[in-house]
Amino acid sequence: MTDPILLTPGPLTTSAETKSAMLFDWGSWDGAFNELTASVCRDLVGIVNAQDEHVCVPLQGSGTFAVEAALGTLVPKNAKVLVADNGSYCKRIVRILGYLGREAVVLPHGEQSPADPARIDAALAADPAITHVAQVHCETGTGILNPLPQIAAVVANHRRCLIVDAMSSYAAIPIDARSLRFDALIAASGKCLEGVPGMGFVIARQAALERSSGNSCSLAMDLLDQWQYMRKTGQWRFTPPTHVLAALRAAIDQYLAQGGLAARLARYTENCAALVSGMRALGFKTFLPDALQAPIIVTFHAPPDPKYDFTEFYRRVRERGFILYPGKLTAVDTFRVGCIGAIGAATLRQAVDAVADTLRDMGVSRVAQE
Ligand SMILES: *Cc1c(COP(=O)(O)O)cnc(C)c1O
Repeated sequence: MTDPILLTPGPLTTSAETKSAMLFDWGSWDGAFNELTASVCRDLVGIVNAQDEHVCVPLQGSGTFAVEAALGTLVPKNAKVLVADNGSYCKRIVRILGYLGREAVVLPHGEQSPADPARIDAALAADPAITHVAQVHCETGTGILNPLPQIAAVVANHRRCLIVDAMSSYAAIPIDARSLRFDALIAASGKCLEGVPGMGFVIARQAALERSSGNSCSLAMDLLDQWQYMRKTGQWRFTPPTHVLAALRAAIDQYLAQGGLAARLARYTENCAALVSGMRALGFKTFLPDALQAPIIVTFHAPPDPKYDFTEFYRRVRERGFILYPGKLTAVDTFRVGCIGAIGAATLRQAVDAVADTLRDMGVSRVAQE
């Protein structure tokens, strides 16, 4: 059986080299494993040019664990966090703040509207009690790209702290800590770095991290404790995701050898263009206008034909070797297709062919929205 192609934003299709890096059992006390951790952290900081003022704190778990750990560690108990909400991952941040007992101020946006720096500016000017802004960079729920450099400039101008969920943009869409000020930037092993899932990480401003003592209500999620222990011993506090880290080391090596961020962005941009033009030729409409679309994941409107059913559509496309992703919108029926992973434009064109064959087999003829 060959692996299916995962057109999902994590887990995603990984290279054979990345998979083979997991065929070795590392001991967590081993000096070589500590060096592996240190080298990965060095590279993760370097990818966003954050060597001067930031440190990398890795954390076991999926990306959400790292988001929750960053908010719980870096946001004091009496702080107030502004969240410009234009999708499901923004809403997840608001839910996390609720669990943590941190006050949130939500700026609701439409799901087709990028987070508006002018509204964030006005909200910060109107409420001096807001201490932090938590911003999703690429909102994976729809695929929309939020204007992070402009938002970071507004937040810095008001001297508030910025926490960025860059989960689905890190390593593919430029973020430069030398010109873009943030206290924390969160991402994970299994997205645009094309590692396997299982480890998140936070690129944290060292000064902010050092001030965060006593904030976290959770031991396992306390990034300050994780960082201090790792700095002292070179080891993870609790059982490390050894195979995930080894795969990430291999994935980063390939990332750098392939030309780093510019090459990754170029490949994903080609993937996205091949996908969108192929799907449009079949009659599909994208949920977002091209100008707002990040080349990470694309939301398509479901065909209005009564013969269309996502579960059946998914199953039949799956039989042809491609895994699609359900939509995450409540108001409109959609599905999503990821452009990321160790795949190129030819694979996306094959996926479009599989969709075309599936529609024909299902007897779906009306594909376009009116
Ligand atoms: C993937 C992702 C996360 C984390 O999701 P997990 O399912 O916990 O890995 C968080 N934010 C964004 C924007 C994401 O794309």
